[in-house]
Amino acid sequence: MTHHDSDTRVIEPDAEAYNATLVRRVDLTDDLAYFWVKFDGAPTPFESGQYMTTGVVTDGKLLQRPYSVASAPSVAGTEGYEFFVRHVPILRFTTALWRLEVGHRMRMIGPKGKFMLEPDDDRTHLYVSTGTGIAPFISMVRETMAHRKPRRTILLNGCSFAPELGYRAELEAWQADPAYRLTYIPTISRPNDPRNVGWTGRVGRAEQVVADVCRDLGLRPDRTVVYICGNPEMILNVERVLMDRDFPEFHVKKELYWPKGKSPTG
Ligand SMILES: Cc1cc2nc3c(=O)[nH]c(=O)nc-3n(C[C@H](O)[C@H](O)[C@H](O)COP(=O)(O)OP(=O)(O)OC[C@H]3O[C@@H](n4cnc5c(N)ncnc54)[C@H](O)[C@@H]3O)c2cc1C
Repeated sequence: MTHHDSDTRVIEPDAEAYNATLVRRVDLTDDLAYFWVKFDGAPTPFESGQYMTTGVVTDGKLLQRPYSVASAPSVAGTEGYEFFVRHVPILRFTTALWRLEVGHRMRMIGPKGKFMLEPDDDRTHLYVSTGTGIAPFISMVRETMAHRKPRRTILLNGCSFAPELGYRAELEAWQADPAYRLTYIPTISRPNDPRNVGWTGRVGRAEQVVADVCRDLGLRPDRTVVYICGNPEMILNVERVLMDRDFPEFHVKKELYWPKGKSPTG
């Protein structure tokens, strides 16, 4: 008999804690998946780049974590809020999320965050991310396209293995369409791993590739705004590379997914 079967005192999730439902899930790899969560009522307005705090009740406790929204604000009422999540193999929020069935009730609050586009910014936009840090940039590209106001964008996304590159098919299609004004630069950091067999694209960590990208594409510090999202070590390293290339600090915006120096177990 499991703990749950025997223990009648398990706190029933307060129905009022829930205000949303997990409506869809698509797996990319064993530990990366796209999730869509929809509010019961009218969607809460947000801006591309912001995050929502999502929660589930497990063992009578409400577990909540922030997630950048990958979908465009305009589809929040129809498709819901899309998230791109990595399963961190410890018994915390993502482990609970991975076990949820579509249709499960959830809690969602927000939006929060200041990692947003400047209105009518005609500088070149350089988006740098690792792993799931690509999420807010997907929302930004979708939203600027929905308003037919795409900005000249270079999107750099680094992963260890090619199958982990989120939104790759969409990004390749968007890049092929001149209306998007998008250059997509995926890079993988472990070229000798069997999972990267057949990879012909860029190799190296985001912080190594970013200097080449600035040089190859002629990105000028005074004409470029940079957004960096994901792993905190990568963010600091990319920032250092950009400062060395005379990018003013106020042309660089950052979203850290966890505090610097924190490993999954530490
Ligand atoms: C503003 C903001 C937006 C975020 N958006 C996203 C998002 O869009 N997608 C997403 O997957 N996560 C995102 N995160 C991280 C997310 O909130 C959780 O921390 C993460 O999903 C792990 O949850 P957990 O409870 O399982 O472990 P936690 O106890 O929250 O984290 C444990 C450790 O896992 C590692 N870790 C956390 N997140 C990641 C990750 N994404 N990739 C690799 N290692 C990680 C870190 O070392 C962290 O210290 C965001 C965080 C912040 C602050």
